[in-house]
Amino acid sequence: MAWEVVIGLEIHAQLATKSKIFSGASTAYGAEPNTQACAVDLGLPGVLPVLNKEAVRMAAKFGLAIGANVSRRSVFARKNYFYPDLPKGYQISQMELPIVETGQLEIELEDGSSKIVGITRAHLEEDAGKSMHGDFHGMTGVDLNRAGTPLLEIVSEPDMRSAKEAVAYMKKIHSLVQYLEICDGNMQEGSFRCDANVSVRPAGQKEYGTRAELKNINSFRFVEKAIDIEVERQIDLIEAGGKVVQETRLYDSDKNETRSMRSKEEANDYRYFPDPDLLPVVIEESFLDEVKSTLPELPDEKRQRFVQAFSLSSYDAGVLTASRELADYFERVTQVAGGEAKLAANWVAGDLMGALNKVGQEITESPVSTEMLGGMIKRIQDNTISGKIAKEVFEAMWQGEGDADTVIDARGLKQITDSSAIEPVIDDIIANNPGQVEQYRGGKDKLFGFFVGQVMKATQGKANPQQVNELLKQKLSG
Ligand code: ADP
Ligand code: MG
Repeated sequence: MAWEVVIGLEIHAQLATKSKIFSGASTAYGAEPNTQACAVDLGLPGVLPVLNKEAVRMAAKFGLAIGANVSRRSVFARKNYFYPDLPKGYQISQMELPIVETGQLEIELEDGSSKIVGITRAHLEEDAGKSMHGDFHGMTGVDLNRAGTPLLEIVSEPDMRSAKEAVAYMKKIHSLVQYLEICDGNMQEGSFRCDANVSVRPAGQKEYGTRAELKNINSFRFVEKAIDIEVERQIDLIEAGGKVVQETRLYDSDKNETRSMRSKEEANDYRYFPDPDLLPVVIEESFLDEVKSTLPELPDEKRQRFVQAFSLSSYDAGVLTASRELADYFERVTQVAGGEAKLAANWVAGDLMGALNKVGQEITESPVSTEMLGGMIKRIQDNTISGKIAKEVFEAMWQGEGDADTVIDARGLKQITDSSAIEPVIDDIIANNPGQVEQYRGGKDKLFGFFVGQVMKATQGKANPQQVNELLKQKLSG
């Protein structure tokens, strides 16, 4: 039996405002517990929430970027439930009238195809505090610093059909919110996390199957693994005659399994109602125009421009525009290097990204600056060094030996382009290998590589490869 997987994501992006969504307390990460929670965040009696305009601006910016409808009127609602890290006994969120409705996003898949994912809505809400279960001698500590932090919850349509598509979508949103500068995207600190809704249905069936919701996943790798393992569980269950129940499940990355947290029957009835302490949010055209004017070049636009301006493949352009910082880095390198952008693209996306990934560093932390890499590529293009020697130069720059010219000088890596210097080397090699020469002349073409290797060895890789080829051909043929 063939099964089709159906996935919808709810992504929580923490908005990068300085203060909280309904109070003036700071949102900075990492402060001592309970030093950044004011009377409003603590839910003390008699205090009133005041909406942070910056949060509204950021939500509107997101709505515009995904071609959505930014609601001219949205309403905050109370979502009631009891939990120790929720001091008011309710979370302020948006229910019936969210600030953003019906947008979409195009995602690119590994096979080069692309696909549109619908975005049902995005609404503003406040985060809860944090319960800490270690270090308290059998008790639980509560840190309310995070209470009242603004979140944008982005809800997709159930449009994804594999874990890979879900990851591609999540990455795209992750990149977009950072381009828009509305979220720092820091997943370790919990600024960007998602709930994955997963169901399966027999291929060809129209109705969706019953879904399970996998809560609070904060890495791309875990989203993929959690979905894959959950799909496997559901299919096994159905094929054994069982039924999937609608429930919330937790992904345990240590055991690579999902476990039930609560079923639909035990699910909370949140008794949503409009928050009487907050007025509806009314957005005027002038405000929206102002927000529109702050929109940066978006990832898809940048990608298209890279394809056209630099003659890059759509794939390469996609890699290089994955983050704004990387795109900026690449553009600067092409400026410094001049010439073919393809060469700069290869160095940035290949060697540099590879080296950074190896040590787990971001492009912004690269020990090789744009000026250094651009300067090195310039030396490849003007034939001072070969592409192969450039690998050594790059490694030396990475280790802090200075810029390309300094390294080339200090290590004597200048390419030998003077044919009167290469010729005697070739003559020697021909004289010392009469057997190979005879075989080559007798038709064993493959031996050409042997001679090239010998010349390179004798010149420590510094002979210009093109010249070596030409001179060898001449001399060997006669
Ligand atoms: P709730 O209000 O219970 O959170 P929603 O209808 O808002 O449910 O859907 C939440 C998320 O679940 C959305 O991202 C949606 O696309 C997804 N979803 C809904 N039904 C299914 C299904 N059968 N399989 C997978 N995902 C689903
Ligand atoms: Mg939901």
